[in-house]
Amino acid sequence: MTSKNKKPMELYVHIPFCARKCLYCDFLSFRALASVHEAYTAQLIREIEAQGAFCREYQVTTIFIGGGTPSVMEPCLIADIMRALKYHFDVAEDAEITIEVNPGTLLYNKLHIYREAGINRLSIGLQSTDNRELRDLGRIHTFEEFLKSFQCARMVGFSNINVDLMSSIPGQTLESFKNTLKKVAMLKPEHISAYSLIIEEGTPFWDHYGQGAAGGWRSAGQDGKEHPMAADGPAFPPLPDEDTESRIYHLTRTFLTEQGYGRYEISNYAKPGHECRHNIGYWTEVPYLGLGLGASSYLGGCRFSNTSDLDMYLGLDFNRAPEEVLEQLHGPLQELSREARMEEFMFLGLRLTKGVSGIDFVSMFGIKLETVFGPVMERLISDGLLEKNGVWISLTEWGMDVSNYVLSEFLLS
Ligand code: SF4
Repeated sequence: MTSKNKKPMELYVHIPFCARKCLYCDFLSFRALASVHEAYTAQLIREIEAQGAFCREYQVTTIFIGGGTPSVMEPCLIADIMRALKYHFDVAEDAEITIEVNPGTLLYNKLHIYREAGINRLSIGLQSTDNRELRDLGRIHTFEEFLKSFQCARMVGFSNINVDLMSSIPGQTLESFKNTLKKVAMLKPEHISAYSLIIEEGTPFWDHYGQGAAGGWRSAGQDGKEHPMAADGPAFPPLPDEDTESRIYHLTRTFLTEQGYGRYEISNYAKPGHECRHNIGYWTEVPYLGLGLGASSYLGGCRFSNTSDLDMYLGLDFNRAPEEVLEQLHGPLQELSREARMEEFMFLGLRLTKGVSGIDFVSMFGIKLETVFGPVMERLISDGLLEKNGVWISLTEWGMDVSNYVLSEFLLS
């Protein structure tokens, strides 16, 4: 419960370290020595102290320690971060506190220390139960290692676990994805996220599958054969074709629904009562503060991001006037225009299956939803992509299938 006289806020803490870079990853993450983990944690704690002083009117309802791979660090560093967060922020007693972890970096002892530190939710990056698919993604772990981590997490007492899955993996078939879904559902995690692989620029996958690759997008899959690189290098099997992708997408929805998971967002499924509060807050514009390298924030109607330069981050002098050092950390704050906030209200809120509420819109902007978006809403409703239920506007199932198109229709400029 949030304290009556304080506003709710969420915290995101970025740990940019990984054991190795996956072949598709464009996140702000890299390998670093244990001494860098320690220096980073010390600086992060200084930032937590500085930022906390500006957030006295907020109560923290959720914390998400993400990355990167937070579990690659020594667990005592995570415990130090948790201690600092609780000391410098007003963290609600029932706050949802998640840490992202990867199999292959988890031991019983680590999980135990997380629990002791007050972390009550795990998000495990599995992606696939097929070891060949995992290898081709450049993941460091096997399915068997995931199983051990999952069992350890239950033994330690974690009763709120998310498992991340990925579709559109090179070489993935409908059958292999079905196997992944079945094996994961048998373990009964409380939450499952299922995102599609996106080929991002600047990654080895982009060089092979992206628009810049010889022959262009998806060229590798045209002959249906594997395309091995050097004998000791990664294999680049073809990407699934569009028909397989679409069947995988529909299978995810029907299978997980049959297994008792409710779809509450385009790519997220949960057992009743286990929807991720942190992400729901993000989609419904609860203010959040990002701490650590490259972390983004949305606070006081402004969006801003911390520097992504590790040397600069580590070199910040938190003994200087806090306003000065925070401005160095994330540059001047930029207030979002009212129009931009209205667009975001729609883009983010419509990702949720329950959609957006006309009442919330009026209370936030002092104007009716229909006055701003009436014509586009009418057109999308008559096209069968949007539906109205009382004060709620939401995507239809078909609208969810083509959500990128539908959401882009709410751009005001
Ligand atoms: S574990 Fe996650 S953050 Fe790290 S390299 Fe792989 S995809 Fe990127």
